[in-house]
Amino acid sequence: MPIDPMQMSTARLERALLAEPRVCGEQMELFFAPEGEKPTARILREQAAAVLCADCPVRSLCFEYAARIRPEHGIWAGCTAGEIAVFSDVDEVA
Ligand code: SF4
Repeated sequence: MPIDPMQMSTARLERALLAEPRVCGEQMELFFAPEGEKPTARILREQAAAVLCADCPVRSLCFEYAARIRPEHGIWAGCTAGEIAVFSDVDEVA
């Protein structure tokens, strides 16, 4: 039976993520903005990263981990850091 990421500790989530082959592992430049990135380039880069996340086998772990750590940068589970923050706030209210 698969384990529900919401029932896992943050440390366990992190270990599980690091133990799995992640689609982003070899293309981190797509997931984090280079210095001085222009807005149009950012949108295209984030869209390309989100496409890779869509097929990632650990996407649910990644989303739950990001919701806990509230990253300030990057694409996590196909979401921007800002989107993760909004989704996390909604979860806390519900
Ligand atoms: S879902 Fe998370 S672990 Fe998977 S490719 Fe996207 S950012 Fe990487």
